Amino acid sequence: MTSISSPSKKYPASVMCRKILCSAFEAAPFPEKKRQLFAEKHAYATIRTIKRHLEESYQLIGLETRTETGRRDLIFAGQDGHKRISEVKSGHQITEADKIQAALYWEPGYDEVVVSTRFEDLLLPPTFICKVRVAARLAMELLITQPEVAATKFTPHPAACSYCANKKCAFSVAETYVRR
Ligand code: SF4
Repeated sequence: MTSISSPSKKYPASVMCRKILCSAFEAAPFPEKKRQLFAEKHAYATIRTIKRHLEESYQLIGLETRTETGRRDLIFAGQDGHKRISEVKSGHQITEADKIQAALYWEPGYDEVVVSTRFEDLLLPPTFICKVRVAARLAMELLITQPEVAATKFTPHPAACSYCANKKCAFSVAETYVRR
């Protein structure tokens, strides 16, 4: 896979994944009263993901590893030595933003990226990962060089608008972060 430099540290992957979809995206605050429930769901999905991988003879070699742009939930090594990053999601369904976020965690040295829920591990094609990282670079360029344009370039996408609190945008519906 071609190496593409990492996106800037300025935006974590959890925000950048939606800035790629809409540069005017502004993350809605996470509702405090749901934090515990979210943590429990995420922990359960993590356990299920580890169990599935161990059953397929993977070894767990990384857990909540810090990166420049966020945190890799899980890293596994296959029997042949290949390395897989798993981005764990607490929800039932995998969204476009989930896939983009997972792709942003890829770096040279890793062979595969999957988005994992309690039910499944979705393997991202290398071409998707490359496209995302190119899109991240372009989005970052716009955000840095033309912030006024980026702040008003509204490009609605269901995976972004549901989590967006940009009050200047007519498409904004989220008062707080909502996982659908
Ligand atoms: S609500 Fe508006 S600013 Fe927010 S992601 Fe959607 S289109 Fe972009």
